[in-house]
Amino acid sequence: MSGVEIKGTTKIVGIFGDPVTYSLSPKMHNHAFERLNLDFVYVPFLVHPEQLKNAVDALRSLNLAGVNVTIPHKEKIIPYLDELSPLAEKIGAVNTIVNKYGKLIGHNTDAPGFIQSLTEDGKFNPKNRRVVMIGSGGVAKAIALTLVEAEVKRLVVLNRTSDTAQTLVEHLQKISKTDKNRISALELSDAVLTQQIRDCDLLINATPAGMDSVPLLPEIFVFDAVYAKVTPLLLSAKQIGAPHLGGLQMLIRQGALSSSLWTGIEPPIDLMKEALQ
Ligand code: NAP
Repeated sequence: MSGVEIKGTTKIVGIFGDPVTYSLSPKMHNHAFERLNLDFVYVPFLVHPEQLKNAVDALRSLNLAGVNVTIPHKEKIIPYLDELSPLAEKIGAVNTIVNKYGKLIGHNTDAPGFIQSLTEDGKFNPKNRRVVMIGSGGVAKAIALTLVEAEVKRLVVLNRTSDTAQTLVEHLQKISKTDKNRISALELSDAVLTQQIRDCDLLINATPAGMDSVPLLPEIFVFDAVYAKVTPLLLSAKQIGAPHLGGLQMLIRQGALSSSLWTGIEPPIDLMKEALQ
C-alpha cells in the first residue's frame, strides 16, 4: 500500500478513544479513502476522559471533518455536541461526529451496522424472537434499541452491574411503543444465564469479557460484538454446531456508514472488508 497522500486540501477524520492503539479503523478507512481516491486521512487520537471537552473543541478549531468515538466516550461526549441524529438521540450514544461548518452533529452507526451484519444473507431475523443480551454499555444500548425496533418477542438484558441494565431497560420501555413487559433486566450470574439461555433464540455478548463456559444450545444463534479475536463464546458455539457471528462484520458496516456520513458517497463496505482480510 502506497498510503494516503496528505496535501493542503486533505480532510482529516479519525477516532477519539482511550485506548486507541489496537483500533482497526485507521486501516479500514485509509484503505477505502486511497482506493476511492478521496482526499481524506483517518488518524487515531488518544483522548483521556479529562481531555474530552478540549478534544471536541479541537474538532472545531482544527477544522476536522469528523471523528469516530469509542470506549469510554460514546455517552459522555453528548453534552459537548450541537445536535444529535434522531437515532443517536434515541440510543443515547454517539459513535460518529460530523463537523458541518463548525456545527458538530452526533450519529450512531453501530445500530445499523449491527442489524445489517445480523440479517444479511438471511442469517438471523430477530422479529418475534427471544433475545438474551449480556452487557449494558455503549454498544449494548445501540444493539438493544435496534432489536426493540426490529420487534423482538422478548429482550432480557443481563449485566454485571444490575442498576445499569435496569436503567437501559427503563429507557427502552419509555421509547418503545409496544408491550413494555417484553423488555426486562437481571443481574448477570452463571445461574441466571443458564436459565435464560434455555428460553432464547439469540444470545448476544455486548461486553469485552470472553464469556467462557456459557452453557450454549445448538439451536441458539450466538452473536459476539467483540471483533478483535475469536472469543471463547464463539469457539463454544462452533464446537456444538450453533450458528454464530463475531463483531467484525458489524465493525466493517459501522465504519462504512461513518465514512459515508463524512464523504457523502456510498458506504464502501467491500473495500473495508478487503482492508481487514
Ligand atoms: P462499555 O460501554 O465500556 O461497556 C462494557 C460493558 O461490558 C458493560 O455492560 C460492563 O458491565 C460489561 N463488562 C465489562 N467487563 C466485564 C466483565 N469482565 N464481565 C462482565 N461484564 C463486563 O463498552 P462498549 O463500547 O459497549 O463495548 C463492549 C464490547 O463491544 C467491546 O469489546 C468492544 O470492542 C465491542 N464493540 C464492538 C463493536 C463492533 O462494531 N463490533 C462496536 C462497539 C463495541 P458493567 O456495567 O458492570 O461495568
